Amino acid sequence: MPNMTALWIKNPQGILSTTDAASGIVVRDNLIVELVPAGKVPTTPYAEVFDASNHVITPGLINTHHHFYQTLTRAWGPAANAPLFPWLQNLYKVWARLTPDALDAAVRVALAELLLSGCTTAADHHYLFPDGMDESIDIEVAAVRDFGMRATLTRGSMTLGEDDGGLPPQSTVQDLDVVLADSQRLIETYHERGAGASIQIALAPCSPFSVTTQAMSESAKLAGQFDVRLHTHLAETLDEEEFCLSKFGLRLLDYLESVGWLGPQTWLGHGIHFNDAEIRQLGAAGTAVAHCATSNMRLSSGIARVLELEAAGVPVGLGVDGSASNDGSNMILEARQALYLQRLRYGADVPVERALGWATEGSAKVLGRTDIGTIAVGKQADLAFFKTDELRFSGSHDPLASLLLCGADKADRVMVGGKWRVIDGAIPGLDLPELIQRHRKHARALVDLSAPIHQFS
Ligand SMILES: [Zn+2]
Repeated sequence: MPNMTALWIKNPQGILSTTDAASGIVVRDNLIVELVPAGKVPTTPYAEVFDASNHVITPGLINTHHHFYQTLTRAWGPAANAPLFPWLQNLYKVWARLTPDALDAAVRVALAELLLSGCTTAADHHYLFPDGMDESIDIEVAAVRDFGMRATLTRGSMTLGEDDGGLPPQSTVQDLDVVLADSQRLIETYHERGAGASIQIALAPCSPFSVTTQAMSESAKLAGQFDVRLHTHLAETLDEEEFCLSKFGLRLLDYLESVGWLGPQTWLGHGIHFNDAEIRQLGAAGTAVAHCATSNMRLSSGIARVLELEAAGVPVGLGVDGSASNDGSNMILEARQALYLQRLRYGADVPVERALGWATEGSAKVLGRTDIGTIAVGKQADLAFFKTDELRFSGSHDPLASLLLCGADKADRVMVGGKWRVIDGAIPGLDLPELIQRHRKHARALVDLSAPIHQFS
């Protein structure tokens, strides 16, 4: 019996695929089962048709680096015009006031913004566990499930506080045994393996400079034992190199190697300041980089050497980074920023399709996934649909190129695993005004350092 539940997504205006899919794609259950070449009709029996003649289709965009909780501190005066270290010191005392309710609102705002911009899979790096925030990752899991998205949620950590020469306030650091026990609990409770996974867990000390050497190496051991990925910030600023040399007598990557991190299980946030030898070292190790163009411009951190990293074999994807350094969570706009930042470094012939590739296939590799990130038979039906009928697209010619060059900023429809999660530019079932109101209340309470923190329901 033929399966009659298949959907033909018919005749898109444009589609990002290396195989001819000009007449569309067929989705059955959660998978892409057929690409339909120009002038053809599906050979797969189908029951439904979606007319995509007004849509440009890309694989669902994949975000590889974020800190969802930071949506509570967007465009906050004391951090609006500062480089990384003073920026962090101003923000830590605010972030230390995070509550479960505030985090829930922050995560939902970040996910809504990502999803509405065409993002179907997101990584979050949550390393903030002040008192009462033990269930931070559990809160994130619940929200991701409600939105029907996929996520790699990283159990972050900070173990080196001010008292021990680190940057974060003591109230935000945890003992290593607490970190490791919670990491194991989260992996055992939530981590899904194999194609189609919705929730994956990874381990993510905040940076090598906010945790002890032991925390780095024990995290790597635990990740190896449970076969999960490792993530941290690295080479975002030049100060890190000096810090590493003076504290450990090692260059950054040699330090990573010494703690068991330099391998294909690891992806690094930023990865800006690597020399030629280090780029070769990363490529040989298969360690991946999350390029965060907007954040790097916002904090004036530098321009990552993306084309050279890729040429050396380093998987590169994109990240919007936390909302205190972007301050948006818009993935399609992030691809535009990455395109333009890389053109500043390498010239105007960096193709538009390459930037879309970083946001999709590249990001999938960064998260260690082969089931998402491309439009091909057998892949998950994770798709973003953009319309080009707004003023900003008027007069444009190449539909795919217009997404980045004209500045598409929202998806009209988004599908995750064959299910519509955005319809007509909205998330079905989500009361967005109510969410914004709740989130704003929390954001205001968080930065009012003179007042005790409130819980809003
Ligand atoms: Zn970050």
